[in-house]
Amino acid sequence: MAVQIFGIPVSRGVAVGRAVLLTSARLDVAHYFVDPGSEEHEVNRLRAARLAVRAELDTLQGELPDDAPPELSAFIDVHKMLLDDPQIGRETAGWIRQRRYNAEWALTAQLDVIARSFDEMDDSYLRDRKADVEQVVERLLYALRGSSVLGGSSALHRGSDGDALVLVAHDIAPADMMQFKQGVFGGFVTDVGGKTSHTAIVARSLDIPAVVGAREASRLIRQDDWVVIDGDNGLLIVDPSPIIVEDYRVRKQESELGRERLKRLVHTPTRTLDGQQVELLANIELPEDCEAALASGAAGVGLFRTEFLFMNRKHALPDEEAQFSAYRKVLQAMGGRPVTIRTIDIGADKPLDTTVDYRDGEFNHLNPALGLRAIRYSLSDPAMFRVQLRALLRAAVCGPLRILIPMLAHAGELRQTFTQLELARNELDAAGIAHGPVEVGAMIEVPGAVLMLPLFLRHFDFISIGTNDLVQYTLAIDRADESVASLYDPLHPAVLQLLGQTIEQAHGAHNWKGRAVHVSVCGEMAGDPQLTRLLLGLGLRSFSMHPAQLLSVKQQVLRADCARLAPLAQAVLAEFEPEGQQRALAALAG
Ligand code: PEP
Ligand code: MG
Repeated sequence: MAVQIFGIPVSRGVAVGRAVLLTSARLDVAHYFVDPGSEEHEVNRLRAARLAVRAELDTLQGELPDDAPPELSAFIDVHKMLLDDPQIGRETAGWIRQRRYNAEWALTAQLDVIARSFDEMDDSYLRDRKADVEQVVERLLYALRGSSVLGGSSALHRGSDGDALVLVAHDIAPADMMQFKQGVFGGFVTDVGGKTSHTAIVARSLDIPAVVGAREASRLIRQDDWVVIDGDNGLLIVDPSPIIVEDYRVRKQESELGRERLKRLVHTPTRTLDGQQVELLANIELPEDCEAALASGAAGVGLFRTEFLFMNRKHALPDEEAQFSAYRKVLQAMGGRPVTIRTIDIGADKPLDTTVDYRDGEFNHLNPALGLRAIRYSLSDPAMFRVQLRALLRAAVCGPLRILIPMLAHAGELRQTFTQLELARNELDAAGIAHGPVEVGAMIEVPGAVLMLPLFLRHFDFISIGTNDLVQYTLAIDRADESVASLYDPLHPAVLQLLGQTIEQAHGAHNWKGRAVHVSVCGEMAGDPQLTRLLLGLGLRSFSMHPAQLLSVKQQVLRADCARLAPLAQAVLAEFEPEGQQRALAALAG
C-alpha cells in the first residue's frame, strides 16, 4: 500500500525512482553472540569486509579527477592505513574470539575504545583523527552488510528502466550536497531542514526535485523502495501504485516540456510591458556553475557564495592562489558581465570541516545563527580575511568585480571591513602585485541594518537584500529548523515592510562619492516567480537567483506592467490582517 509523507517543498519538479538510503550504519547494528566454534568464521567475515573496503578505497582513489585537490588522495591513504592498523584488525578480532561478539558488534565496541583514547589526547590534530576512524568503521559496517557507503553496489547506476535514484537521508550537510553536483541522483529527501536552509538552497541549485523536513522519511522508507518525490507540493509517495507512477511520469514529462519552452526566452531582452529594464543575475556556489548561469541568459553573477570553496577540504583552507584562480575563473567565464563575489559566510548551518577550523567547538553554541558567522567570522581572523580580500582585488584585474560583505549590522564592522580592504591593497602594493578596482556592497539581511540604512547607503556602492536571513532574523525563526518551518513566512507584513523600506530608500540614494547606490535582492524570494510582480511593484529592478529559476522569473517580468503594479504593491504593504493581505495579493496577481 502506498504511503504518503508530507514535507517542505524546496525544489520543484517530479522524480520517480528507487530510494538510496544514506543512514549511519552504526545506528542499526545487529548485536548477537556467534555460536561456539564459529569464531574463526566470523573473523573471516571481518577480514573479507576489510578486503572489500580496501578495494573500494583503491577504486575511489583511482577515479579521482585530475583536478582533485591533492589532499583528497592523501585522505584516502590515511583511511587505508587505518584499515591496516592492528587496533582495528587485531583488536576487533579479539572481541570476536574472546567474547563471541558478531563482527558488527565487535567493530562498534572497538570503536568506542578507540574513540575514548582519542578523546583523551592533548594533540588536537590526533584528536581529529577520530572522525577518520569512525568513517573507516562505518565503511566496514557497510561492507559487512554487503553494500557500499552509498547503500548498495548498484547505488550509482541508474535502474535498467532509466528511472532515477532518489537520495533519502536524515540530514545532508550543504558540503555533502555539493558532492552530488555530478548528477547521480534524481531527487532528494531529508527528515530535517527548512525551505531556505543551505542544504535546500544547494538542492535547488542542482535543479532536482527535493523535499526537506519530511520528519520520519528515512525511517519509513527502505533501501530500494520505489518513491515519488513531488517537489512542487512537498509530497513523497512510497511504494506507489502503477497508476500513481504513470500519473507522475506524465506530470514529469509536462514539467520538462514547460522548461524546454521557457528556453525560448533566453535571448529576449528583460523588459516589462511598460519598458522598464530589469536585471536578472545568477547565484552560484562554484566557478563551474557559470555555465548554467550563461545558459539561462543571466546578465551577470549577483551572488557567488564563496564559502563553498572552503568546504569539503581536509586539513587546509584554500590559499590566496587557489582563491584567486577560482575568482578569475568566474570573471573570465562571465566574459565582462558584472560578477558579485561575497566574502565567506561560514558558520550557522555552514560550518567548516573540523580538521581545518582551529576554532572547532566555537560553533557548538546554542544559537549558531546568532553567533560567529559571516563577516563576524572573517573579522575574528583578519589575516585569513585579508587572504580572501587580496585574492579578490587581484582577480578584479580580469573583469568588473563587486565585493559583497554578508551580515553587517554594526558601524564598527563597516569600519573594520574597509580598514582590512585598505590593508589588503597596501600589502599587494608593497609586494608589487597588480590589483583592480572593485565596488563594495553590503548584504542587508539583519533587521537592524534596515533600520540604519542611511549609514549603509552612505558607505557602500551597492546593497543586496538577503531575504533568507532577513526573514529568519525578523521573525526569530531558525531557517534550518523544520519544527518552525510553517512560521517562516517571506510574506509576513513585518518582512514586507522592511523589504519595501529598503528598496524605497535605496532609490535615488547617493553614497559619499556622489554615486547612485544600486539595490538588488539575492535571497530566495528573488527566484520565486510568484513574488516577481510584488517585488517589481515595490520598485525592485535587479534580482539574483539560481540559474534554474531565471527563465520562470523572466517570463513574469515580460508580462508585468510596473506602473500598474506599484500602487497594488503599496496596497499589500498597507495590510496587516491576513485576509486583507490575501485580497491585496490576489489583486496584484490578477
Ligand atoms: C540570504 O540570506 O538571503 C542570502 C542570500 O544569503 P545566504 O542564503 O547564503 O545566507
Ligand atoms: Mg544570508
